[in-house]
Amino acid sequence: MNRIFDNTETAFALKSDSDLEKAYFLFKMIKSEPLVKIGTAVTKFALKSHLPVEGLIRSTVFDHFCGGVSEENCIPTIEKLYSKNVYSILDYSAEGKEEEKQFDKAKDITIGIIKNYAKTNQAIPFAVFKPTGFGRFELYRKITEHETLTPEEEKEWGRVVDRYDAVSKAAYENNVPLLIDAEETWMQTAADDLIEEMMKRYNKERVIVFGTLQLYRWDRLDYLRGLHERAKSEGFKIGMKLVRGAYMEKERERAEEKGYKDPICADKPATDKNYNEVLKYMFDNLEDMSIFNGTHNEESAYLLMDLIDKAGLKRNDQRLWFGQLYGMSDHISFNLAREGFNAAKYLPFGPVKDVMPYLIRRAEENTSVAGQTTRELDLITKEKKRRKLK
Ligand SMILES: Cc1cc2nc3c(=O)[nH]c(=O)nc-3n(C[C@H](O)[C@H](O)[C@H](O)COP(=O)(O)OP(=O)(O)OC[C@H]3O[C@@H](n4cnc5c(N)ncnc54)[C@H](O)[C@@H]3O)c2cc1C
Repeated sequence: MNRIFDNTETAFALKSDSDLEKAYFLFKMIKSEPLVKIGTAVTKFALKSHLPVEGLIRSTVFDHFCGGVSEENCIPTIEKLYSKNVYSILDYSAEGKEEEKQFDKAKDITIGIIKNYAKTNQAIPFAVFKPTGFGRFELYRKITEHETLTPEEEKEWGRVVDRYDAVSKAAYENNVPLLIDAEETWMQTAADDLIEEMMKRYNKERVIVFGTLQLYRWDRLDYLRGLHERAKSEGFKIGMKLVRGAYMEKERERAEEKGYKDPICADKPATDKNYNEVLKYMFDNLEDMSIFNGTHNEESAYLLMDLIDKAGLKRNDQRLWFGQLYGMSDHISFNLAREGFNAAKYLPFGPVKDVMPYLIRRAEENTSVAGQTTRELDLITKEKKRRKLK
């Protein structure tokens, strides 16, 4: 495969010169760990004290990483991306709310996205939600760690199951595939089991429900093999989003603190190898599976592109998707789309204050995944030079 991701003209075709300057400035700030630490603390304090900082947040990090404050607000961005054949996945990113009212709201918003946006707008091929958007973390944890639920908690879990079912049913009836994110290992088994139940109900004819495999976990290939056996014997298909995983430090710390075996691969090469193996396993079993390759890693994208081309499949085969987060790795998304592959952006939205935990994670991730930030800066610099020489 030619190194198509080096093409910065395609990558930044939607960005004006001043957009490029802004992005450069932002990544420069994010790259500095002390700045991110101070910025995060000051922002949290300012928002808590109701200081008027929303405008500033909006015009900087928010606009870079989010589509808007509401679904409707995201439409211009969705149209712009689609003009370059890049798809959008509306991602309601309000986090840290642990009330039933909020869980119902997230469910209703997701169903609304399925019925009012994804069903009718070709630019929006999936809906998405995260497990803790629909239920309390502690409840998932208790089930995952085989603790007995109180009668009240049993009822509460019943409501979580109903939310998953309502959204999966809406996805099925409107033929809109649904991605479900993955979070910390010590709550994830409860989510995985429920997602499997949804696959059983709604993935009989085609893949509607997708779970997520975090490939920094060394146990995931075995898990997938087991799921595949059950899928074959019970007659359902498997959809999986593949990612490396976003909670590595937390996972290692908890395993050490509680004295259980670290669930994360020993090092980065081991995670990469695991990622490749699972991707190949799924590709070899495409009659039973669909893949959403959620990564900013160029090699992981090239690997799937190669597999598709070598197998002579259509590049826009509906079982095969690539995904990146809005505001990151445009060089991958836009070049993939230009070459005819299915490339989609997670497009977060929500009130500025509620999306802050998501934004802080992005800033921290870009600080810790320093290589990626350097890459963003290098690509922007390369494009600025190219434009000057034109
Ligand atoms: C569309 C999309 C959806 C996503 N959804 C989820 C989700 O549902 N759940 C979730 O957890 N994350 C999700 N993520 C984030 C993802 O898990 C990664 O954090 C992020 O994409 C970086 O990984 P990478 O493959 O892009 O790139 P890379 O830069 O190649 O990989 C970085 C990752 O490698 C792993 N790693 C780094 N160092 C080590 C080490 N020493 N030992 C072992 N492993 C190591 C970590 O997972 C780290 O995040 C999503 C990402 C995208 C693009």
